[in-house]
Amino acid sequence: MAIERTLSIIKPDAVAKNVIGQIYTRFENAGLKIVAARMTQLSRAEAEGFYAVHSERPFFKDLVDFMISGPVMIQALEGENAVLKHRDLMGATDPKKAEKGTIRADFADSIDANAVHGSDAVEAGKVEIAYFFPALTA
Ligand code: UDP
Repeated sequence: MAIERTLSIIKPDAVAKNVIGQIYTRFENAGLKIVAARMTQLSRAEAEGFYAVHSERPFFKDLVDFMISGPVMIQALEGENAVLKHRDLMGATDPKKAEKGTIRADFADSIDANAVHGSDAVEAGKVEIAYFFPALTA
């Protein structure tokens, strides 16, 4: 199976709940290695650029407002089948629909404040990792 990289963001709601360590443990137990990480508070421009694919969606402004509302923890994860493995750990976008034992089922409150972001494909992951960790892809 291919070694892949994916971008993960622990969103402001989960950082505020003080569960970064618990989420990192899930990554590590699943065999995902943290190859880059930084904690930051995103600017509006950074958040808008990151979510540019959603710019026409009705929830875009609320999503950006939420993502800049507090610090986030951003990491690049590496491992076998990392993109899907990470998506499985995250659970469905809407925590009410997320499977028991997933990060969103356990830590998220709503579809807006849903604890984590994860790249949805290998190519998207490359773009997202380059956005936040240019040195890793240079
Ligand atoms: N989102 C939202 N309302 C919606 C759909 C999505 O607030 O009706 C937010 C939510 O935070 C989600 C993000 O937009 O994580 C990106 O949406 P996407 O469909 O890509 O879901 P994800 O890949 O994060 O599961």
